[in-house]
Amino acid sequence: MSNLKLCQGPECHTYTTKDRLKGSKDNKTYQTRRRSSFYYGNHNFCDQRCLYDWVNKYIEQGLDHFGRTTEAKHLTEENAWDKRYDWRGGSDDRTDIYYFVNTITNERRPLTEAQFRDSSYTLNTGE
Ligand SMILES: [Zn+2]
Repeated sequence: MSNLKLCQGPECHTYTTKDRLKGSKDNKTYQTRRRSSFYYGNHNFCDQRCLYDWVNKYIEQGLDHFGRTTEAKHLTEENAWDKRYDWRGGSDDRTDIYYFVNTITNERRPLTEAQFRDSSYTLNTGE
């Protein structure tokens, strides 16, 4: 029928905004928001409040399920590569520059735009 997605916020229907009030004249109820797309929480929530309602309700289960951080992680030269983007130049000669910078050694290495946009492309070898 429709391609509308429902907000995954567990309390979405309890927020009494006009746009949530749906139904026929004498049978109106506040309902979970439906939209073709959402912005928050990887496109699952209509707003930050609904996202945080979900987080507050499920965060402990999530951490128990996926594993808690039990030891401090360490940033080392091997995993300190960060993608950066410099926009410079005037309106007539725009030059987009993509590069890696190692946030510990400050070494810079060039990147192509495709490599910059490829979220799986990294120089990091550690965690
Ligand atoms: Zn919502």
